[in-house]
Amino acid sequence: MITRRHFLKGMAAGTAAMAVSGPIPAQAAPGPPNIIFILADDIGYGDLGCCGATKVKTPNLDRIAREGVRFTDAHSTAAVCTPTRYSFLTGQYAWRNPDGDHILSGVAPLAIPKGMATVPSLLKEAGYATGVVGKWHLGLGTKEKPVDYNQDVQPGPLEAGFDYAFFFPATGDRVPCVFVENHRVMGLDPSDPIQVSYEQKVGNDPTGEEHPELLKIKADKSHSKTIVNGVSRIGYMSGGNSARWVDEDIADTFTRKAVSFIEQNKDHPFFLYFAPHDIHEPMVPHPRFRGTSECGWRGDVIHQLDWSVGEVLAALDRLNLAGNTLIIFTSDNGGAIKDTYDDGTNALHALQPPNAPLRGEKGTLYEGGHREPFLARWPGKISAGTTSDELIGLIDMLAMFTAVAGGALPSDAGPDSYNVLPALLGEKRAAPLRDHLVLQINGREPLAIRQGPWVLINKRRGKKQPADVKNAELYNLAEDLAEKDNVAKKYPEKVKELTALLDRVCSTPRSRT
Ligand code: CA
Repeated sequence: MITRRHFLKGMAAGTAAMAVSGPIPAQAAPGPPNIIFILADDIGYGDLGCCGATKVKTPNLDRIAREGVRFTDAHSTAAVCTPTRYSFLTGQYAWRNPDGDHILSGVAPLAIPKGMATVPSLLKEAGYATGVVGKWHLGLGTKEKPVDYNQDVQPGPLEAGFDYAFFFPATGDRVPCVFVENHRVMGLDPSDPIQVSYEQKVGNDPTGEEHPELLKIKADKSHSKTIVNGVSRIGYMSGGNSARWVDEDIADTFTRKAVSFIEQNKDHPFFLYFAPHDIHEPMVPHPRFRGTSECGWRGDVIHQLDWSVGEVLAALDRLNLAGNTLIIFTSDNGGAIKDTYDDGTNALHALQPPNAPLRGEKGTLYEGGHREPFLARWPGKISAGTTSDELIGLIDMLAMFTAVAGGALPSDAGPDSYNVLPALLGEKRAAPLRDHLVLQINGREPLAIRQGPWVLINKRRGKKQPADVKNAELYNLAEDLAEKDNVAKKYPEKVKELTALLDRVCSTPRSRT
């Protein structure tokens, strides 16, 4: 194993793979760059100013685009939270692992297999301090020993390779509504233990179904269980009252912890995975952001997210780290259109469609479900103000970050992850960096496959239906980005070819060649 000391020694001797192309930065800093990966929640392709939005203002995110590269064909790999996050951290398609291929509850076991190489485990071996701040949603505990929030909460992020973790377990709309730091629930009073169930009511806390008059925002049936902070959730919890979060303060808390991690690790290479709650439901902006956008609370939480990113950028400037930091901003799936909470934003989607100009939304295999804003800044390495139309996936971050750190990628690590660094650096290649990309929703099937301009979607694949022209959709994205014209009948040979390719990827344990 390579220790940090050994790695830095290697850097000093000029042996690490930092000699990538591009001009030498004015303030070239020695050593490998810090890496900050900001994964927003449910941000759509059209949600940022630099991606065409006009009814919200995102000056800090626009700054990253202005000072770096913006990708127009980057994909979250899945159209919902958990599988995207699993693929990002492991470089393995989530549909290969039944534990991580679907949206997890707050009591699901850790989806990442013990001993599996992850982004943080590889970067740790390359000498990095590794931290995660924000939404976890990859399970905690094991099948044999389910998570107990009153004891050590593990295995979890630390066992997956992080040195430091500050997170909430699942989603903002799921119990338990508490923060965990490393292995312990923050602020928990042992005399008021936490109980959690997704099957039956526990304790005496009111639910949204029983007491709608207690709610700040009304919710649909599945989100109408235990009320915490005036918001009903998915699932039941009792106890842990002193540890419960206040929704309006989540962004402040996560941002403070992210900046603190940067400050504490400023003297050596670090990797920060910052996963804000924004803009997932429930969208409950801090009062200082309310009414600041033209798109209701949805726009206001985009402003809140932009502020969080701005705080990270300001910390890099203040600590003189910006010149030696690769910072990436993207999102885990497309914008959600259907409001499960009645916060009034549904009526405002027409003002600024979250996934414009794409078809579909979160939870669909159309482009709106998984094509994402992807911004990357690395002064002196990435040319400022550029765009790239290279096909990349968030699943590629494992191979790419390992290359950025100068670490070695074991042959069995990240089986579906490609090093797409040349695209960030603007290097011209004759062939695409990745030949194809498989996309999923929530569960093993259905899948879509993208190759070149073509995307094949077979929504009935899970029902063992062959992808023939009758039940497949085929689009040529170069000519029809909005996926209005299904050309499956026109190009039956292409349907056959992509079906065979998808079957081949599914029948082998790895797709990186
Ligand atoms: Ca999400």
